[in-house]
Amino acid sequence: MPVPIEQLRALLGADKVSTSPSVLAAHGRDENFPDVRPPCAVAYAERRDDIVAVLAWCREHQIPVIPFGAGSSLEGALVPYDPDVAVLSLDLSRMSAVLSIEPENFVALVEPGVTRTALNTALRHTGLFFPVDPGADASLGGMAATNASGTTTVRYGGMRQNTLALEVVLANGDVLQLGRPVRKTSSGYDLKDVFIGSSGTLGVISKLWVRLHPVAEHIHTLRVVFPTVQAAAAAAYLIMSSALPVARLELLDEYAIRSINRYLGRSYPEAPALFVEFHSSTAAAINAEVALAEELARDAGAVDIACAQSQAERTAQWEARHHVYWALVNAHPNHIYTTTDTAVPLAQFPALIDAAQRMLQELDLAGSILGHVGDGNFHTIIAMQPGDDRAQRYVEYLNQRALALGGTVTGEHGIGLLKRKYMHAEHGAALDWMRQIKALFDPDNLLNPGKIV
Ligand SMILES: Cc1cc2nc3c(=O)[nH]c(=O)nc-3n(C[C@H](O)[C@H](O)[C@H](O)COP(=O)(O)OP(=O)(O)OC[C@H]3O[C@@H](n4cnc5c(N)ncnc54)[C@H](O)[C@@H]3O)c2cc1C
Repeated sequence: MPVPIEQLRALLGADKVSTSPSVLAAHGRDENFPDVRPPCAVAYAERRDDIVAVLAWCREHQIPVIPFGAGSSLEGALVPYDPDVAVLSLDLSRMSAVLSIEPENFVALVEPGVTRTALNTALRHTGLFFPVDPGADASLGGMAATNASGTTTVRYGGMRQNTLALEVVLANGDVLQLGRPVRKTSSGYDLKDVFIGSSGTLGVISKLWVRLHPVAEHIHTLRVVFPTVQAAAAAAYLIMSSALPVARLELLDEYAIRSINRYLGRSYPEAPALFVEFHSSTAAAINAEVALAEELARDAGAVDIACAQSQAERTAQWEARHHVYWALVNAHPNHIYTTTDTAVPLAQFPALIDAAQRMLQELDLAGSILGHVGDGNFHTIIAMQPGDDRAQRYVEYLNQRALALGGTVTGEHGIGLLKRKYMHAEHGAALDWMRQIKALFDPDNLLNPGKIV
């Protein structure tokens, strides 16, 4: 049956519906899903009523709909499940207003299309910041929908900890506020946390109340160099188990550092490294914390420790960390990429890093190990030619090892289409209850169908 796009145009206004092939292609792909599966149209919401109208149109014509934030997610979260079924993409990027900032309450109210950098720009004169920083400049709606995290999560938490309340539009058109903008509540079932990480399968996020944090008075950023990735992982564990209040603790292997040097013109020593940062309100506290971290790193075999001397050097170091994916992609033109996202209990982390490193060597793969080691979460980014099954063997091996160590196959990217096959192994009988939750909120299975459950 033809999809009545003209009716949707009449409903929303012509400038809010696109069928341009390049726009469609950009809404049906991501960095690690192998195919592009364009939706039949893209509808742009500019206000909550547009979301309500689009969902009513989808219900009437039984057209599945995939919410779209900034399009930076992985695992096929935005890619239609069945390439032969027409699907609408609902783009929220035009809902990009910071509605209010309450510095006295450490809270901001934002529309879902506000990006993390736009929010931090709006906050720049307040002495406050929003900490969650996935590598891409993602939207806050998309970040909540994937329970995103980043380099500062080890200290400040990820999206679940930093989202106080949500406004959502359900498939049936109901608008709900989930949670209250307070730091704690014991009231009722926590539906806010059910929606965080739900990847647009339960409802469309139309507003978020997010938590803000004071910018630290004192910041120290270190680059600690190790002879092996295993020594770097052991040092990361020592730092975490000493209960030091580290604000960022990131691992980059030699391959990642070499790629950064070429891509960004840096001259970092080409060896595995930890990028570490401390935030504190007093100089005495931060000096003591840094001294202990340096001692622990040396005990684990660190061969060089460099401290950023200025804000510019700090920014440059974290810019390098945030660009590492693109640096690796740039190092292997004409390849495709696969990315792992395992997270394990902290004490198991060095063992999983060791297993990952050995397996990369055994399979002779061009892969780089890096990630948020303070949270026990790391990625392997593997360049490969289409049809090379060694990368899939590696991914399967690593995911199974992570599960066997009591961990998860996805610390932050989400399940999407690519990791659905691990859901039963990870959740057992709880998966059936997740399916029942999905059916309760979306009985016609119209919201991002085929994802997660
Ligand atoms: C180079 C690179 C580095 C990355 N690094 C990290 C990292 O460090 N940490 C991390 O967590 N992720 C990382 N990611 C993944 C990505 O940035 C995150 O998943 C991010 O949260 C996606 O946000 P988005 O706005 O791009 O969402 P999109 O990609 O647009 O959407 C993601 C999912 O959320 C749903 N969705 C979007 N908006 C809404 C809404 N308003 N309501 C309901 N559902 C919605 C979509 O349907 C989709 O299922 C990285 C990606 C890249 C390309």
